[in-house]
Amino acid sequence: MTVRDYTAVVTGAASRRGIGRATAQALASAGWNVAILDLDEAAAKATADEIAVESGAQTCGLSCDVTDEDAVAAAVDALVAGAPPVGALINNAGVTSPTRFLDVEGAEWDRIFAVNVRGAFNITRRLAPGMVERGYGRIVFLSSVSAERGGGVFGGVAYSAAKAAQLGFARALARELGPNGVTVNCVAPGLIDTDITGGALEGDRKDALIAGIPVGRNGRVADVADLITYLCREESGYITGATYDVNGGSHIH
Ligand code: NAD
Repeated sequence: MTVRDYTAVVTGAASRRGIGRATAQALASAGWNVAILDLDEAAAKATADEIAVESGAQTCGLSCDVTDEDAVAAAVDALVAGAPPVGALINNAGVTSPTRFLDVEGAEWDRIFAVNVRGAFNITRRLAPGMVERGYGRIVFLSSVSAERGGGVFGGVAYSAAKAAQLGFARALARELGPNGVTVNCVAPGLIDTDITGGALEGDRKDALIAGIPVGRNGRVADVADLITYLCREESGYITGATYDVNGGSHIH
């Protein structure tokens, strides 16, 4: 089997300018069939349709709140019934918050962990068994530079902790699933030009941030999507448990 025989599932992939959508496009261009999972069914389906037209790939768009176990189960059941077997999972759905530790409330902490960590758990536990059974799988987590340096350009303590939890999750999973042909890696982007901050990083603040980035620009979604697509190749099977920085040199360590 080749990637053309498999489906790549990308969570949170309906955001118009988001990393997930760009990743789904890149995977489709590389031959994968893709499934777009996101909160908004209409947006997920529209994204899937657009990618099918662009790439000729088989695509589907499903509504799925990754924090809701029943919704995840329903989406996975629909995939199993109607799409080629799942060969890749991109745990991209994520939310951020800039709240400082002395101000953060439990509800906000739980919300950030629910999407970034529990959400990734909910879907990974449903899809990993099939990958193990077939002896092929590629799992990629969208962590963040925030996990590595304790706060990035926007994320506060809850986000940094949740993104760091993903690093441990991925590394432990890489050890466990490696013998079954399933690789698990993390990508840790720095400032990427999307809508995740809701426009909070514009103007002078953005200019000051860019001034601190050695390559002199913020990241583009394609910078991240290309790396994820590389990690999902059959030929990348010896790369697992790794974390890849995509930050223009803003966190050289
Ligand atoms: P984005 O806001 O453009 O997209 C996030 C997507 O996740 C949206 O489509 C949203 O609907 C979806 N989503 C949110 N909650 C969900 C849920 N409960 N179930 C399903 N889908 C849900 O954000 P982005 O910038 O493209 O970020 C993508 C990933 O990359 C996130 O995990 C983010 O933390 C990570 N990241 C982004 C940056 C950056 O600078 N943009 C940097 C580091 C890491």
